[in-house]
Formats: sequence, structure tokens, C-alpha cells
Amino acid sequence: MTHYICITCGTQFAQTVEAPKHCPICEDERQYVGKGGQQWTTLPELRQGHRNRIDSLENNLYGIGTEPKFAIAQRALLIQSDAGNVLWDCVSLIDDDTIERVNALGGVSAIAISHPHYYASAVEWAIAFNVTLYLHAADRQWVMRPNPCIQFWEENKLELQAGITIIRAGGHFAGGTVCHWLAGTGRAGTLLTGDVIQVVADRRWVSFMYSYPNYIPLSAAKVSHIVDAVAPYQFDRIYGAWWDAIVQTNAKASVQKSAERYIKAIKGTD
Ligand SMILES: [Zn+2]
Ligand SMILES: [Zn+2]
Repeated sequence: MTHYICITCGTQFAQTVEAPKHCPICEDERQYVGKGGQQWTTLPELRQGHRNRIDSLENNLYGIGTEPKFAIAQRALLIQSDAGNVLWDCVSLIDDDTIERVNALGGVSAIAISHPHYYASAVEWAIAFNVTLYLHAADRQWVMRPNPCIQFWEENKLELQAGITIIRAGGHFAGGTVCHWLAGTGRAGTLLTGDVIQVVADRRWVSFMYSYPNYIPLSAAKVSHIVDAVAPYQFDRIYGAWWDAIVQTNAKASVQKSAERYIKAIKGTD
């Protein structure tokens, strides 16, 4: 029995004797099946040619990304906190070297994920660190490896510990979640967004999509809902899903003006 991993989205599946026939996450219109058709790998195979890079991004924040790039190539984020470190989003590769280096940074006390494209091998990580994996209940159908470590939360926000709150923003996925870190960015506040709020090429701006690879936009109402969901929180910086996806400063104003630009574009009112 093997926990197969889809090579296009990086999701690890429940164990099976043979590789699954389909990846529902890639067959969904928000993703795609790769050019060569559905293909799979496994953790032992991935460990042979890949390693995880762990870099400091700011005081008490580390990025964790796999090299060479694998699947969607997102990097996870580790918030260091006296109350226990929080792993935000996840990658498919986990190995002894990664566990050792993460433990040297204080380990992991909870894992939360923005949306199904970054579920990756999160169950494997939760088991390795013996912690709870927080996934929003609205995306329950996209969990490919069910496990008792998963806690499906149903509220619009959940404080994982004082000053670290996960917020259901919806949009890209019904349970699309962002994470607010009150003490981040010199106590100005930090928002970790995955691609629920997407940092774009011009890093003073963000965007919002139902499907990024297939360019399917969101409705004005859904974009407004995302803005409203983060409105009560103070933040100056946004970390998106990739190493360079960072709005360095004035991020809250960036979300507001980006939403206005987006809604104006899709409504055709310019
Ligand atoms: Zn897939
Ligand atoms: Zn996504």
C-alpha cells in the first residue's frame, strides 16, 4: 500500500495498492491534468531528487519550499511563537532533514492550510509533528487523505493562539482561508494568504480568482466578501504562496484598491 502523490497538484492521497485513476483536485476546473496525463509519485521517490529550502523571511517567520520545484511549487510558512509555532500551508516533501531543521526552529504546534491546492502532504506533516491539522469544513470534499489529525473548523474565524487567527475569506474555494499574525512585521501585522488573496507581478497589488491556471474570475460579491473578511484586522505586509509573492508594505490599502480595480474591470464600468 502506498500514499501516492499527484505530480501536478502535489496532493498526497490515502494509501492504495495501485495508483489512483484520477485526481479530483486536478480534474476540477480550478486546476488541470498535466500534458502527459495523470501521473503520480511517492514520498520515497520525491526524497531522492528534492530537498526543502528553509529561509528566514523576517523576524520569527520562515519559508519552507521544495527544490527543485515540485507541482504548484508553493512555499509554506512557519510562524515562530512562544505559544508554539504555526505552520501555514504545506509542501509535498517531508524528510528527516526537514523535520530536524524545523525542530531546531522550535518545531510545529499546529498546521493550518489556506485551501485544497496546498493540502499537499499535510497529514504526513501533522503525524510527524503530532499536531492538529486545521482545514475549513467547507472544503471537506477535497480532502484526499482523511485522518484523525484533521480538525474541520466551521466558523468564520478561529484563533489558533493569542494573535494568530485563521479567517475564512472564501472566493477561490468555499473554505478559502487566510491567516492573520498580529505580532508580524514589527507588530504592524501580517497576513498570510496563499492564493486566496494573490500577490501579483506588480507587488504593490493583489488579485483574486476562482481559477488561476484557467483564468476564471470571481464575482464582485465574492471579492467584496474577501475584503470584508480581512477588514477587521490590521496588517502592513502580505505573504502570498511563493517566495517572491510579498506585498512589503501598505498591504491593507493594497487589498482595498486592488478589489476596487478588479470589480471595476469585471463590471465594465470604466
Ligand atoms: Zn492533482
Ligand atoms: Zn489555488
